[in-house]
Amino acid sequence: MKVSEILAGSKKAFPSLEIVPPLRGLTKDELLESIEPFMEFSPRYINVTSHRDEFEFRQEADGSFTRHLIRNRISETTVCAAIMSRYDVEVVPHLICGGSTAEEIESKLDNLAFLGINNIVALRGDCISGEKRFSPTPGGYRYASELVEGIRSYQGSSTYRRSRGLEADDRFFCIGVGAYPEKHFEAPNIETDIANLKRKVDAGADYIITQMFFDNKVYYDFVEKCRAAGISVPIIPGLKPLSTFKQLSVIPEAFSLDIPVELTREMTKAKDSKEALYRIGTEWCTMQCKDLIAHGVPAVHFYTMGKSRNITEILRECF
Ligand code: FAD
Repeated sequence: MKVSEILAGSKKAFPSLEIVPPLRGLTKDELLESIEPFMEFSPRYINVTSHRDEFEFRQEADGSFTRHLIRNRISETTVCAAIMSRYDVEVVPHLICGGSTAEEIESKLDNLAFLGINNIVALRGDCISGEKRFSPTPGGYRYASELVEGIRSYQGSSTYRRSRGLEADDRFFCIGVGAYPEKHFEAPNIETDIANLKRKVDAGADYIITQMFFDNKVYYDFVEKCRAAGISVPIIPGLKPLSTFKQLSVIPEAFSLDIPVELTREMTKAKDSKEALYRIGTEWCTMQCKDLIAHGVPAVHFYTMGKSRNITEILRECF
């Protein structure tokens, strides 16, 4: 089932969960064990992030350099197939522009369609280590809006339609895109960023998932601005519970966002107690989640980052 259909058919807010594919070396069973605790909540779908292959150059004995692939993570498609092999749950792989040509993206779409996966979150992708700015792959896409267009035109191709018996206007893939209530770090201002978000929706995105935020007012203001700009698709809020003192500095830098003074103060007071930090972060996120549900959001997206204890506590409290 497509996420757009789940959203349209759902009368109350539901949780959606995002997981990160495991590093190489982990087995399928270990991966499935890590998501097992979420299954008691019967998630409607699970998002699986995508990570770019990284390469390094090594000098050979003759002085020449050779390029070597350092593939750190299992691919999103493989992880989705593993989840589908055990659970009756929809999977939503993320697809990124970075590292692939348009043709290679088409090949990924073929693989997803082959598995019967008809949900995608289309993103530009993060920079690779050593890069300050995102540099598109030659023959690839520069912005997520181009990727959305690419996905839409792929399924508009006559070969693709014929092979699946689709009518010309059938959309096989339901497409989600990312958004930044506190502005994407490269955008000159929030208005420009929202205009670029609208390009993604105009290109065919069905819904939006936001970057994490720690002050719900930021999300409500953002939704209002999006609506005023003519964006009418669902905007799913993204949450992540804090659990360590270090995150107070790491998360704002990594995701270009603010952590409210009150939460910072509470966590600083508790900085020597792991359990107290965990409790403060979990309770803050629970409070955010309850407030979002009370405001009628369609779903709440959780960045689980491989942690299940705090997320399951929050789900138990809120859903
Ligand atoms: P875009 O929408 O392409 O925007 C990037 C920047 O370009 C913005 O500043 C935007 O304003 C600007 N822009 C867009 N279009 C134009 C245009 N036509 N002209 C000029 N400027 C333009 N990263 C991963 O690597 N893997 C993941 O799985 C992943 N999952 C994510 C899930 C969510 C819900 C979110 C919110 C982010 C995720 N990210 C992931 C991070 C994301 O890839 C980065 O934040 C990336 O820097 C931007 O991606 P985007 O799709 O929002 O880019």
